[in-house]
Amino acid sequence: MSDEKTAAPAWKRVLLKISGECFCREGESGISMSEVTDMAEQIRDARQTGVELAIVCGGGNILRGRDFSESSSTIVPATAHYMGMLATVINALALQDALEKAGVATRVQSAIRMEGVAEPFIRRRCIRHLEKGRVVILAAGTGSPFVTTDTAAALRAREIDASVVLKATKVDGVFSEDPLKNPHAIRYTEISYREVLSQNLQVMDAQAFHHCMEHRLPIVIFNYRRPGNIGRAIAGESIGTRVTANGTS
Ligand code: UDP
Repeated sequence: MSDEKTAAPAWKRVLLKISGECFCREGESGISMSEVTDMAEQIRDARQTGVELAIVCGGGNILRGRDFSESSSTIVPATAHYMGMLATVINALALQDALEKAGVATRVQSAIRMEGVAEPFIRRRCIRHLEKGRVVILAAGTGSPFVTTDTAAALRAREIDASVVLKATKVDGVFSEDPLKNPHAIRYTEISYREVLSQNLQVMDAQAFHHCMEHRLPIVIFNYRRPGNIGRAIAGESIGTRVTANGTS
């Protein structure tokens, strides 16, 4: 356990989106259990604030439907997307064991029924688990092809009445330009939905973004690889980029 004290949560219930890239080492694919364990330990520390936490896992470290169907003339697009959803279940199971090993009570709920490994996603049951202090890992996205887990995160957040979508990535936030191409690019600390649209900035997939904007659901994009950042994001500290209706930067 880290020595760092975790501040009180800024939000009662949080939806944390963990992209597939967080499950593997930089530039690699598949699952690195040391990466998953580091993430689980951060989540355990953040949980000690008493926040209710639901997690949507991505699957891009294993397979993304669009890329896979484009690279194969045999696989039809819908099948490729279902394969992508199954990839998120693999990640969910890895995260579940890492969290349980770290002493965190969890449940996996899947949008595609698979009784042998996960409960089905049932909104009321999900909320009950959260109220009991369990971390609920939401797998298989929305259960429907042609969308991404960003969309699943935005929809589920609303469905379970979460106050914010925290998007854990390997970048420090939203920048005015690609910071790898322009070292002088500015990181926005707070920005409005409208500014994101007018500047064509990349925050989440468009469908997910519009859903958050329509329902004024704040989004925080942050780098989970900086130790303690999941806890900081949950505590509402100013890390990464916060996207809200008002924005200030
Ligand atoms: N996917 C889907 N429906 C959903 C969520 C995901 O079809 O509701 C598929 C889609 O093909 C996607 C893949 O699952 O590319 C993996 O999810 P995603 O690309 O969002 O993972 P991430 O980029 O977060 O790692």
